[in-house]
Amino acid sequence: MKALIAGAGIGGLATAIALRQAGLVVEVLERSQELRESGAGLMIWPNGTRALQALGVAVRRLVVERISFRSWRGHELMEIPMDIISERYGSDVAFVSRADLQAALTSTLGEDALSLGADVQSFEETEDHVEVRLRHDSVAGDLLVGADGIRSVVRRELLRDGDPFYLGSTIWRGVVHSPGIPIDRGQGINWVGPGSEFLAFHLPDDRIYWAAVTKEPRGEMSGPGGHKQDLLDRFGRWQDPVSALIAANDHAAILRNDMYDRPPVNHWSRGRVTLVGDAAHPMTPNQGQGACQALEDAVALGRGFAHAANVADAFKFYERQRLGRANRVVKASRQATRGVQIDAPILCAIRDTAARILPRTLMLRMLDKTLSAVPAGDLD
Ligand SMILES: Cc1cc2nc3c(=O)[nH]c(=O)nc-3n(C[C@H](O)[C@H](O)[C@H](O)COP(=O)(O)OP(=O)(O)OC[C@H]3O[C@@H](n4cnc5c(N)ncnc54)[C@H](O)[C@@H]3O)c2cc1C
Repeated sequence: MKALIAGAGIGGLATAIALRQAGLVVEVLERSQELRESGAGLMIWPNGTRALQALGVAVRRLVVERISFRSWRGHELMEIPMDIISERYGSDVAFVSRADLQAALTSTLGEDALSLGADVQSFEETEDHVEVRLRHDSVAGDLLVGADGIRSVVRRELLRDGDPFYLGSTIWRGVVHSPGIPIDRGQGINWVGPGSEFLAFHLPDDRIYWAAVTKEPRGEMSGPGGHKQDLLDRFGRWQDPVSALIAANDHAAILRNDMYDRPPVNHWSRGRVTLVGDAAHPMTPNQGQGACQALEDAVALGRGFAHAANVADAFKFYERQRLGRANRVVKASRQATRGVQIDAPILCAIRDTAARILPRTLMLRMLDKTLSAVPAGDLD
């Protein structure tokens, strides 16, 4: 059986590995002429690590020893108990570089499975195959997986459910080489303020990754001084080293993206076509789960084909494993975004107090939703 996969992001590459492991021939259709990933970082939670292990992908990683939440002035609000997480979910949490993860996925898959410059325009199904139209060509397979991200062309044709939804916040990201910055390796710090947050952690090399979220009108428009000045205007009075990190970043290397998601749907598949990753369940980055969920999709779809006799049964297995769980994470991520968007002083005080007194059992119950909702053994 031949699987065509639209998109060579984390979801598409991981899916190709999983389907090849299940015995399928795979071709990944990527519209870019080369695989490029900016140097930004990712947190890989235990569910993501378990999926990477199942795929046989080894990536350079820095184990997280501590994640703390602080108010923008620097008051400690809460800490995620990392020791309990490893014990409870069977793996630690790690910081990785996106470029490293993409390189590890590509080398596990093998470049022979990649078709670069293949811009998917549409698809057509017949009873026994699916034909994918590219900008200048077309290609046929037994099934198509849309892994083409939040503005997926495959999803547009499959579900016809319109555009993603702007959540009202934007996220800036950067990476700095800064030996003087007082953040320990293995430590993640997340500062929360009115309508905004700022987080920073070391990557496995000597760089620090940071990200900032603020409420903004849609459009990613910057002021006359550019992204860096906009950030300094918004975060200049936050606890050190927030402004030092912004100031140290190369002005031109600051990325900014508006935050979108989609309301969860009750199916991702029709006939010989299905969706994975952000194409299936785009979510805000506030829970650090989008890539982890895409990795879980890949493993579940591979398991589907390893166990099922035909495409329909494989997709059924995949959706049974993944729909409910991914949809819960989409909702939890949106809720987390809404929490960060609180900006009235009285509500900020209530939010911060709630974080300070949150019982550990309740925190673990919330983490259970994202980290251990798959029945034990399904992804191991
Ligand atoms: C600021 C930020 C921080 C994040 N932090 C984390 C984190 O800490 N942990 C975590 O797990 N997740 C995190 N995420 C989420 C994560 O980055 C995404 O969920 C994940 O990268 C989605 O991967 P994907 O492969 O589904 O989609 P994408 O990465 O969007 O890849 C889609 C691919 O498809 C290609 N493509 C698009 N259209 C076509 C077409 N028509 N034809 C052919 N190819 C096409 C694109 O070029 C691209 O290569 C974060 C996201 C953001 C924005």
